[in-house]
Amino acid sequence: MTLSLIIPSASPKIKANVSLAELTSYRIGGQAQWYASVRSQEELEEVFQWYAKQSLPLTFLGAGSNLLVSDEGLPGLVLSSRHLRYYNFDPIQGEVTASAGEPIARIAWQAAKLGWSGLEWAVGIPGTVGGAVVMNAGAHQKSIANVLASAKVATLNGSLETFSPEDFQFSYRSSILQQEPRMVVEATFKLQPGLDRVTVMETTNKNLQQRKNSQPYDRPSCGSVFRNPSPQAAAGWLIEQMGLKGYQIGEAQVSLRHANFIINRGKARAEDVFRLICYVQEQVRNYWSISLEPEVKMLGEFPVL
Ligand SMILES: Cc1cc2nc3c(=O)[nH]c(=O)nc-3n(C[C@H](O)[C@H](O)[C@H](O)COP(=O)(O)OP(=O)(O)OC[C@H]3O[C@@H](n4cnc5c(N)ncnc54)[C@H](O)[C@@H]3O)c2cc1C
Repeated sequence: MTLSLIIPSASPKIKANVSLAELTSYRIGGQAQWYASVRSQEELEEVFQWYAKQSLPLTFLGAGSNLLVSDEGLPGLVLSSRHLRYYNFDPIQGEVTASAGEPIARIAWQAAKLGWSGLEWAVGIPGTVGGAVVMNAGAHQKSIANVLASAKVATLNGSLETFSPEDFQFSYRSSILQQEPRMVVEATFKLQPGLDRVTVMETTNKNLQQRKNSQPYDRPSCGSVFRNPSPQAAAGWLIEQMGLKGYQIGEAQVSLRHANFIINRGKARAEDVFRLICYVQEQVRNYWSISLEPEVKMLGEFPVL
C-alpha cells in the first residue's frame, strides 16, 4: 500500500508516516498514514476538528499491547491516548478516576499502596486504562466490568458522553466500543477503600508473581492471542496438548512458556504472526473441532490464505 501525503496537516500534533512498530508491544507493523497523540482535551478537540474535514479511516491506539498491525501500515488517522495522563483517588466515594492513557497497572499499584481493594488482578496487565476498558481486560477471574462505575467517551465530533457500565455491553474481553469506535477519555472505578494495606499488597504481589512465572514477559508479544473457547478449555492448554509449543513461522514462535502466546523472536513480520495464527487455528479445528477466535486485534491488510 502506498501511503498518500496529499492532505496537508494543519496541526503540528498530526504527523505523517509514523512507524507503528515502536508503538506496539509486538514491535511489529508498518506506518500510520497520519498519527496524533493527544495530551489534553484541547488537543483532542484540535485533532477532531482536523479529522472532521477529512474523509479518512480512524483507529484508536492505547499502548498497543493487544494489537497486530499489518506490515503495510494503516491508512487514515491513528489517534493515541497514551499521553493523556492524570488520576485522582476520591476516598469519600471510594472511587478512582483515571485518564485513558494511564497504565492500568499503575492505577492498580497505587490502589494497593493505599489499601484499596478491587484492582489486585490488574497489576500485570500491560496497556492503558482506555485499552483495558475497550477490551474489558481481565485476569484471575476478574475484569474491568467488575469495577467500572462510569467512563467519559468522546464521539467522533469531539463531544463527550458519560457511559454507564451497561452502555459498554461488556462480555468476555469484549465491549460495544470494539464494534462502534469512540474514544475513551477517562474511566472511574469503584473500589473498596480502607482495607489492610499489607493484605491488598500481598494479593497484588502474588498475582504479579504468578503471571511472571507462567507468561513470557521478556519477549515482544500481544499477550493471549486467542480467547479461551470456554472456562473449561483454555486455548493455551488445547494448543499445548498438540505439541505446538515452539512451532515457528519466520521469526514468530508459539511461546515455549505459554502456548497461547505467540512471541516475536526479533525480526518477525506481521505476516509471520498472521500465518502462525492461521496455522494454529487450523490445527486446533482439525484436532479438537474447536474454532479459536483471536483476542488480538489485527489491524490493516493481511494476505488471504
Ligand atoms: C505480556 C502481555 C500480557 C497480557 N495479559 C493480559 C491479561 O492478563 N488480560 C487481558 O485482558 N489482556 C492481557 N494482555 C493484552 C493487553 O494488555 C490488554 O488487552 C490491554 O487492555 C490493551 O490495552 P492497550 O492500551 O495496550 O490497548 P491497545 O492494544 O492499544 O488497543 C486495544 C483496543 O482498544 C482500542 N483502544 C485503545 N485505547 C482506546 C481509547 N482510549 N478509546 C477507544 N478505543 C481504544 C484499540 O483501538 C483496540 O481496539 C496482555 C498483553 C501482553 C503484551
